[in-house]
Amino acid sequence: MDLRAGEALTCSFLTSADSLAQCPPSDVPEVAFAGRSNAGKSSTLNRLAGQKKLARVSKTPGRTQLINFFDVASGGRLVDLPGYGYARASKTRRNAWGRAIDDYLNNRPSLVGLVLVMDARHPLQPFDAAMLAWCAERHLPLLALLNKADKLKRGARTQTLRKVRAQMPESASALAFSATEGLGATEALAFLRARLKTVL
Ligand code: GDP
Repeated sequence: MDLRAGEALTCSFLTSADSLAQCPPSDVPEVAFAGRSNAGKSSTLNRLAGQKKLARVSKTPGRTQLINFFDVASGGRLVDLPGYGYARASKTRRNAWGRAIDDYLNNRPSLVGLVLVMDARHPLQPFDAAMLAWCAERHLPLLALLNKADKLKRGARTQTLRKVRAQMPESASALAFSATEGLGATEALAFLRARLKTVL
């Protein structure tokens, strides 16, 4: 057993991009984080990096509007994609975010895995289903985190996990997760470490 699997990844902010052209060179393995606004993507990144303020956590959904790149000290990068579905943003801005995400996902040879953060109480919304289908088509390994699992009772947690797993394509797996309490963090870190070791 790898005892280090439970330790957070040491990460540091590299750069932000609002388009594919601004992204750093696609030369090291990257695992991207996607999710609907407010699902807890920033909190998840902070938990896995063991830093309270790595990704900005905000009560205002969708405040992370850029693609943010974080260097992982042991190699590779974590990529925070803009939160999906920020209701208060204008349609034009929403389209621009969508384009940046699409461009990144479709033109990034170094993308070796995807973490999809969902609210365990509302899993598999249309955006989530689209991400699953997209990853399945490309055989891209995906880890779905049913975040805020601390808000569900044990029975509901198991039931949700079973329901979500039944809809997972072969290249995907799902975990009950809590960014605030650390549930599932060891398993999520093991996924990240394994993917970031990919030789490009
Ligand atoms: P983002 O928009 O997806 O980046 O979401 P944030 O990380 O900013 O989190 C949105 C809200 O959900 C914040 O109020 C967080 O404190 C809360 N939150 C995030 N993760 C958890 C969790 O695992 N459990 C609980 N109870 N609340 C969480």
